[in-house]
Amino acid sequence: MSTVLSYVAAPEGVPTRASLEVLTRARQLAEAGGHRVAAVVLSTDAAASADVLGRYGAATVYAVSDAAFAEPLNAPAVQALADVMARADAALVLFPSTEGVKDLLGALAIRTDAAVLPDVVEVDWVDGGVGALRPVMASKFMARVRAEGSPVLVSMRAGSVEASEAPVEPTVENVSLSLDASAATLREIAGAAAGMVDLADARIVVAAGRGVKDAAAKALVEELAEVLGAAIGASRAVVETGVFPATAQIGQTGKVVSPDLYIGVGISGAIQHVAGMVGSRTIVAINQNADAPIFDVATYGIVGDLYSVVPALIAEIKKHKAG
Ligand code: FAD
Repeated sequence: MSTVLSYVAAPEGVPTRASLEVLTRARQLAEAGGHRVAAVVLSTDAAASADVLGRYGAATVYAVSDAAFAEPLNAPAVQALADVMARADAALVLFPSTEGVKDLLGALAIRTDAAVLPDVVEVDWVDGGVGALRPVMASKFMARVRAEGSPVLVSMRAGSVEASEAPVEPTVENVSLSLDASAATLREIAGAAAGMVDLADARIVVAAGRGVKDAAAKALVEELAEVLGAAIGASRAVVETGVFPATAQIGQTGKVVSPDLYIGVGISGAIQHVAGMVGSRTIVAINQNADAPIFDVATYGIVGDLYSVVPALIAEIKKHKAG
């Protein structure tokens, strides 16, 4: 029996939300296709998350623990994944669609002679192969894609599946990294600041646009994000002016986010921005121009000046939290 394998990112031993969503889909596909379901974790202490993964139905957890995984280096990750895929006889491997995964999928596909369906929002068994739905052209169109043969590598956008528990007692298989990783060195990561909620994995995102013109408006956005426990995103307009870091950019040339709640503050809703947030479950737009295109995709629209709307929102949320 072959395996549907789920790649789990577990910084500090805690699987990311997107990883648990992908594991849930892997479990469903394994059940439907008569396969085993397993998770693979690459970390300095990979077995630490086994209990959580068992709760989400991973019958086997392949734990590859090595100091090399303290840093996001591709060479050890590709080697470890190729080894685990062979050991598990993986027919299908699901990944959360993250920047890191984007980076390693191509190399892993070459190494394992696999087909790749990247950045999809649905995946299923179709006509003896693997079918998927993939947003294209800045999410304006959906493409149906299909891969044949085995193995197939698929990365799924966060928020495409609801994570659900199906507890089992997992078998943990410790796997050694069969590569001397000391030859590879990481020089710098230009990433999210420590302590901030990670944008790609956040359940709530507060995003700022050109309407956020000055330090007072920026402070309001930051306070709104803080009271909600949200990650801060941005339109390209305010990234280009240096008001927000490039890592915060949402859109066609930035990150794709699909949180439960996205709040756009002073963002017009250009197609290139919408491409990165249209998959959010609930979209709230705050804009003083009632004709702004963001209202076309918003679940709730607030037409008003952010300098009065955002403080009112913060006060209400604080009141709600207090009691
Ligand atoms: P604007 O379009 O200037 O909108 C500002 C909004 O703020 C307006 O609607 C205004 O009514 C509102 N506002 C102003 N003051 C207030 C106030 N006091 N209270 C409430 N509302 C107020 N953009 C991205 O975001 N991400 C991308 O990845 C991206 N990729 C691109 C790729 C290409 C190839 C190109 C050509 C463009 C790309 N862009 C991208 C840029 C995109 O086209 C828009 O220019 C950009 O998204 C606009 O940002 P904005 O909505 O913040 O600014």
